[in-house]
Amino acid sequence: LKTVQEVLHNALQIVQKQRPDHEVQEWIAWNLKIRRLDLFLFPNSFISPKQLASIDSGCQRLAKGEPLAYITNEAHFYGFSLYVTQDVLIPRPETEILVETASRFLSHQHPSILFDVCTGSGCIGLTLKKLFPSWRVILSDISHAALEVAKENARRLDVDVEFIQGDLLDCFSGKALCIVCNPPYISTHEMQTLDSSVTRYEPNLALCAGDRGTENYEHILRALPSHLLPQGICFFEIGSSQASTVMDLSKNAGFTPLLHLDLEGRPRVVAVQREISIFD
Ligand code: GLN
Repeated sequence: LKTVQEVLHNALQIVQKQRPDHEVQEWIAWNLKIRRLDLFLFPNSFISPKQLASIDSGCQRLAKGEPLAYITNEAHFYGFSLYVTQDVLIPRPETEILVETASRFLSHQHPSILFDVCTGSGCIGLTLKKLFPSWRVILSDISHAALEVAKENARRLDVDVEFIQGDLLDCFSGKALCIVCNPPYISTHEMQTLDSSVTRYEPNLALCAGDRGTENYEHILRALPSHLLPQGICFFEIGSSQASTVMDLSKNAGFTPLLHLDLEGRPRVVAVQREISIFD
């Protein structure tokens, strides 16, 4: 029998830094149903041949650059455990800023309607439903497969939300007080600069927007007057280089934008509301 220490050493050798070391450690801990820290607290415990076989097969996948979340079909977001497949993006920590920013707005409103446009795994809309259970939450995505993942997450989080399949805001009827949206925002040019673990494993449909990268914001801003209540706010996640473009697009569409930074001080969320006039 091999010990934890030996297996860990061997696994890191197989993966060859194609994925970060912590993913290799997490993968072993996941198989043993222990915490990552326990690998270092109990380095001499033994690993069964069956566990070893599973660890090895996952390490082969990590060695090709596949993100751990797709191997375990699990990602962590805002303290919740979510189901993920290659049909959805792996929720990013930056996106928690969008949830937090929207939460601050929702906490001052009477319960109303919220749309999560391009929901993917459902991470944003489902987390907000969890935090604000009396809101009516509707999640949309163009991808049927992504909506199936979001539905599974609604079951896991035990929340009652609605789903619509369709492109951006086109599939919605009626208006919401809050719209949250993390649309595909990578330009065709920028796609070539992304880490190959992202482009080879994560769905291109959820990443790539078009030649400018801002096409989806343009599209949603055009449809916003028919889908946002007068006192409502729409929260966009943006790429850190897109702040001024999205701010300008919002102003040109007749809205007042407000920029929020992420924990690293980079532009990350644009909150868009109807123009507030001093003459009102
Ligand atoms: N809303 C989902 C997320 O934040 C999916 C985003 C997308 O598909 N571009 O992960």
